[in-house]
Amino acid sequence: MLQLKEVKNKLVAGPATKTFDFFIQWHLTERCNLRCRHCYQERRKPVEMSSGDLKQEIDGAMEMFAAWEKEHDIFLSPSIHFTGGEPFVYQGLWDVITHARQSGFNVAILTNGSLVTDEDAVRASQLGIMDVQVSLEGPPEIHDGIRGPGSFDAAVKGARLLIEAGSKVSANMTLSCLNVESIEETIGIARGIGFSGMGFSRLVPCGSGGRLLSSMLTSSEIRNAYQRAFALNSPSFTVASGDPLAGVLSGVKPSPQSHLTLSGCSAGFSGITITSDGSVMPCRRIGLKIGNLRKTSLRQIWSSSKLLWRLRQREGYQGKCGKCSLWPSCRGCRAVAYAYSKSHGIPDLFADDPQCWMTCHDKSDLTESRSF
Ligand code: SF4
Ligand code: SF4
Repeated sequence: MLQLKEVKNKLVAGPATKTFDFFIQWHLTERCNLRCRHCYQERRKPVEMSSGDLKQEIDGAMEMFAAWEKEHDIFLSPSIHFTGGEPFVYQGLWDVITHARQSGFNVAILTNGSLVTDEDAVRASQLGIMDVQVSLEGPPEIHDGIRGPGSFDAAVKGARLLIEAGSKVSANMTLSCLNVESIEETIGIARGIGFSGMGFSRLVPCGSGGRLLSSMLTSSEIRNAYQRAFALNSPSFTVASGDPLAGVLSGVKPSPQSHLTLSGCSAGFSGITITSDGSVMPCRRIGLKIGNLRKTSLRQIWSSSKLLWRLRQREGYQGKCGKCSLWPSCRGCRAVAYAYSKSHGIPDLFADDPQCWMTCHDKSDLTESRSF
């Protein structure tokens, strides 16, 4: 895998002693039974790959990972996160997941939870799904206000079926002005239901979510939200976030000289998205296509995409991210940066993350105002 050997040497010096996580976020369908206000999809109905074609592509992906391990003397722990739209509306879901598990992938499912049946819950448990992530946007009235009437009860019913059947089930909340005040209450609800933990992500103002631009949190509100959430982390209930800005709060500082991506935003680094028609994107929330599996192999796209290479190189980041000592472990959320700059008429994937509270080298707030 391009760049990984250098990263390995930087982190662990010597033979491969570290296992690298790499995930494919695989959108099986764009169809969904809900209409969430913050959804990043555009409500198009592209073609869907058959389960037979998907299984072939899963085999191709595993061959790619095996080749990376061999060629670069590294260990990989590859996973596929199946999602949609709503993945449970895809008819061949269990056929595809069974194949992925048999091929050696760890598998997660990202779902709204509302369509999960007893049979689905048993299958998830039997197949050893590493995590079923069910969206939970707040207490019932807030959740239903965002995801539609009755959706809270339906999500909780699905989550309970999965938990009772023995799966590890986590909740995920998309943070915005619509629900930020309910963080503590929502974590309490999730604990009570039996979720193993709760993840947090940020509203990205694209797709339907573009209409919620004014509901984005300011930089100081986001920092405060993560601080409040992480204060409730415990051995019995994990509070986590894949948001690079949440990682900034951990205080880990790489060498300012490093020009290697070591962690942070996974786009171009440790993850890739495949959409229902086989299109490949750095991240679904970025939404820019860099190829299609029906024409080009995933390995070829990963190694030759100019956009992915720009994401990996500090020089492309013109603003404060490019100068920031945390660039190797952060780079901000490129999806938020792109959607926000686009909403202001100057689309730029390498723009500054508008919700970052850091200046280049210290921790003072950039702004306290709603206008960022
Ligand atoms: S300036 Fe960019 S790289 Fe630095 S902390 Fe903020 S978002 Fe992360
Ligand atoms: S662009 Fe944002 S949502 Fe996408 S991988 Fe990076 S941090 Fe995550």
